[in-house]
Amino acid sequence: MEIERIPCRKDNYVWLLHESTSGAVAVVDPADAEPVEARLAARGLRLTHILNTHHHGDHVGGNLALKARWNCKIIGPRADAARIPGIDAEVGDGDMYDIGGAPAKVFDVPGHTRGHIAYWFAKDRALFCGDTIFALGCGRLFEGSPAQMWNSLGKLRALPDDTQVYCAHEYTQSNARFAVHVDPGNVALAARAKEIDIARARGEATVPSPLGLEKRTNPFLRADDPGLAAAVGLTGAPPEAVFAAVRAAKDQF
Ligand code: ZN
Ligand code: FE
Repeated sequence: MEIERIPCRKDNYVWLLHESTSGAVAVVDPADAEPVEARLAARGLRLTHILNTHHHGDHVGGNLALKARWNCKIIGPRADAARIPGIDAEVGDGDMYDIGGAPAKVFDVPGHTRGHIAYWFAKDRALFCGDTIFALGCGRLFEGSPAQMWNSLGKLRALPDDTQVYCAHEYTQSNARFAVHVDPGNVALAARAKEIDIARARGEATVPSPLGLEKRTNPFLRADDPGLAAAVGLTGAPPEAVFAAVRAAKDQF
C-alpha cells in the first residue's frame, strides 16, 4: 500500500492510501474535499473509501462532497455513527475492514472523543490514529477521562515498534517543547527535539513517526515510567494519575 500525505488547513494531514493491485484509494479524515480532489486529479486516481477516526469537523469536513463526487464508501466509528456525515459502514474494537485487499484492524480508542477509533494495517505497519497519539503528544480530552485515554493509548502502544504512526496534525514542535519540559532527563527525547527543530526549520513534515520512538520519547505513552512519575512528583502513583497530571500540565503549558 502506498501512502501519501495531503497537507490541509493550517496543520491537518489527510492521508491518501493507494492499494495498486485492486485500485482501491482511501483517504483518512478528509478535513476538506478540495485538496483531496486536487491530489486525485493530479494522480489520475478514483476515490473508493473514506476512513474516519472521529467526528470533529477537521476530520469529516470533506465527507459529503467527496461522497457526492465519487460515491465512495464511508467507514467510521460505530460508537459515534450519528456524528459521522454520510457513514456507510460502522466499525468498532476488534473489527477487520478490508480496503481493496488491505485489511485494517480497528481499535476503539475513546478519550479525545467518545467514539474515536484507530485503524491498523498490519502488513504495512501503518497506524492511522487521528487525534489519539500525536508525535510527542496526545489529543485533548474533550469527551473522555484520563483513565479512559490511558487505556486507549495502551492498546496502541502494544503494537510493534516498527509501526509508523500517521496522526492527523503537525503539532510536533510545540509538543516537543512541553515534552522536554515535563521529562527533562530523557536523553532520547532531547535528541529528538533537536531533530524536530531542524526539520521544521527546513519546512519538513515530522509525521509519520515510528511507534518505537514514541514509546521512548512521548510523555503520554510513558505514564508508567518511574522516571516520569518522579519528574511530576508522583513517585509510586498509578499510571492513570501520572497521565492525568501530565495531560493537565500540557493543557496549562
Ligand atoms: Zn479532533
Ligand atoms: Fe483534529
